[in-house]
Amino acid sequence: MIQNLKILFHQGKQFIPDPRSVEVPGIFRGRPVITTAKVDENKVVSFCPTHAISTNPVSIDLGKCTFCGECAMRFPEKFTFTKDYKLSTNERSRLIIKEGEDAPIEVNAETVRKEIPKIFGKSLKLREISAGGDNSCEWELGAANNVQFDMSRYGIEFVASPRHADGIVITGPITKNMAEAIQICYDATPDPKIIVLVGCDAISGGVFADSPAIDRSFLDKYHVDLYIPGNPAHPLTIINGLLDLTRKEK
Ligand code: SF4
Repeated sequence: MIQNLKILFHQGKQFIPDPRSVEVPGIFRGRPVITTAKVDENKVVSFCPTHAISTNPVSIDLGKCTFCGECAMRFPEKFTFTKDYKLSTNERSRLIIKEGEDAPIEVNAETVRKEIPKIFGKSLKLREISAGGDNSCEWELGAANNVQFDMSRYGIEFVASPRHADGIVITGPITKNMAEAIQICYDATPDPKIIVLVGCDAISGGVFADSPAIDRSFLDKYHVDLYIPGNPAHPLTIINGLLDLTRKEK
């Protein structure tokens, strides 16, 4: 008993007191900022592995970006990555970061479906579907509920059955083999329900976007409630995104 208490005392408090405001230690690539510095735009777009960079104006689509950092390494005068982990939004267009802009990415409370904060504001149970994922975003979703991040303090948890869920979380580019499984899982989830996409593979297909082995037709049929970018998404990005979707006041 005394030995156990000694161990607990030695470990101290491991949880993050406030995941809404904590600073990320060490190296982390969060929201990018693009300056108006002149660069060879053809070169800038040529090396991005997922074609996330566009020109006129120069912009980065965080739904496609793998956060590899290559653009910032080659053109440090043009691209930098802040430590801002609040990257999630309910509108796909808000994931496009344009040159000369340095504004936070937010959930637009005006366009969140009315029933979401009303019904899921205090409790949200989610069923995760790994649709051809590489287990990186899946790993981070699991980490969001570990002792450090402790997402369940907000009543947000993962459940084993879609019958017990309030929505589905999709990771991975959605392979053909998983297309039917997603539909079955979605149909088995009771209404009202939400759809959340986590990671660039789920949001855009990522590096697999042009592969004949994926089938993303499910996403053409339904409204996506939340986009959580990253490759993989950081637990703080996940937690803040889900809280903003379900609890942000208008
Ligand atoms: S960090 Fe994103 S935008 Fe930059 S090169 Fe990598 S994938 Fe492209």
